[in-house]
Amino acid sequence: MPREGKKVAIQSKKSNIFYENWKVYSTGHKLMFRCNQKKADWYLKRDLAVLLPKESRSIKLTFEAKGDGHKKGDYMVEDRNNMCVACGSTKDLSIHHVVPEMYRQWMPLVIKAKSSRDLLLLCQHCRLSYEPSAMDFKKRCVREFNIPLEGRGWVSLPHYKVAKKAASALKMHSNVIPADRQATLKTTVFDFWEKHGSEVDEELAAKDTEENWDSILEVCSTLVDHFKGPDYIEHANSAIEQLTKTVELDSEGRETWPDLEDFIKDWRRHFLRNLDPEFLSELWTVDGDIYTR
Ligand SMILES: [Zn+2]
Repeated sequence: MPREGKKVAIQSKKSNIFYENWKVYSTGHKLMFRCNQKKADWYLKRDLAVLLPKESRSIKLTFEAKGDGHKKGDYMVEDRNNMCVACGSTKDLSIHHVVPEMYRQWMPLVIKAKSSRDLLLLCQHCRLSYEPSAMDFKKRCVREFNIPLEGRGWVSLPHYKVAKKAASALKMHSNVIPADRQATLKTTVFDFWEKHGSEVDEELAAKDTEENWDSILEVCSTLVDHFKGPDYIEHANSAIEQLTKTVELDSEGRETWPDLEDFIKDWRRHFLRNLDPEFLSELWTVDGDIYTR
């Protein structure tokens, strides 16, 4: 339900002020959307808007904007409070992406652009308490989209891996490793260095091995033993590709992605179910607009 405009001083985010709640009206005096002061100033400076004298923090556009803004009574046009939507705290706030950014970044522009509907304020405590269940959801996505969280298409270098493990053991735990085991590990690193040292560190490989043994151990213990191959694909990229395979046109002939819509709603539902955010506006719903056009 819309809340009364609250007077908030414009301060930096360090002071936990995220919403400055400026109202932007159309030429026909319809409340179109909210913005921060910086955006309001941007319009004012270019004479694209005028200040409304009778209402605080309100501007009216001087041109016919494309589109009609958000629906009357929509979550996007109401005042927002600078508090955690779950517990009401006004401390240690940060913006939480209801649909994780790792997925959102791959979504079509008409979904990810501009909309702040799925960006909500959480305090640090609530953000941390939600993290494990969000991770469970991601693991479900691993099964559903058949792609691990680390992505697919890694190329591993087994000989690098073996040398790295041996060098790390020698570097970190040589005081507790029996002498014969230490000798075996040293041979492993030594053999690796003989064959591959120059491709790892040409300058070091040209120097005397025994004299520079500590440096060689250091370099070998941080070897990169796998890399992204030419066909590498990120988990979320693959998921969004699968979710946008089915395309339907809406009544105006614009593309929509029903599977992706369901995915976004699932995240919204998951957020509500797990955090039970009692300070979240009642206008914020699972079925809120997904497209920004
Ligand atoms: Zn909280």
